[in-house]
Amino acid sequence: MQEYVIPYFFAVEYYKKYSTYPFGERQHGNKGILSFYMEKFSVNTYDKAFNMLKYIVMNSYRGHISCPCGSGKRIRQCHKNTIIYWQQEKYRKIFIEDYYNLSKERKANE
Ligand SMILES: [Zn+2]
Repeated sequence: MQEYVIPYFFAVEYYKKYSTYPFGERQHGNKGILSFYMEKFSVNTYDKAFNMLKYIVMNSYRGHISCPCGSGKRIRQCHKNTIIYWQQEKYRKIFIEDYYNLSKERKANE
């Protein structure tokens, strides 16, 4: 039950803000999606949000390394709780999909 309910509420909140669902094809709105993550991750730039998303998708939690937000602090002194929270399995599918779409766009813009 929970496996489906939580992503549903996440999706509804996401849709209300950006008029797009976090599943499926998305040509537009990547800025909106990054704004959503800026808020969720408590960071103030698109790049920081992207780097946080990348860390959450690609790595397991390790407190001693530099925080992906770029503060220069170790994760355990910075975004520890944020990272642990958003690494929950129930968000993983959405995050992988967003990370994939956002990195595709970043590559195209290089
Ligand atoms: Zn941080």
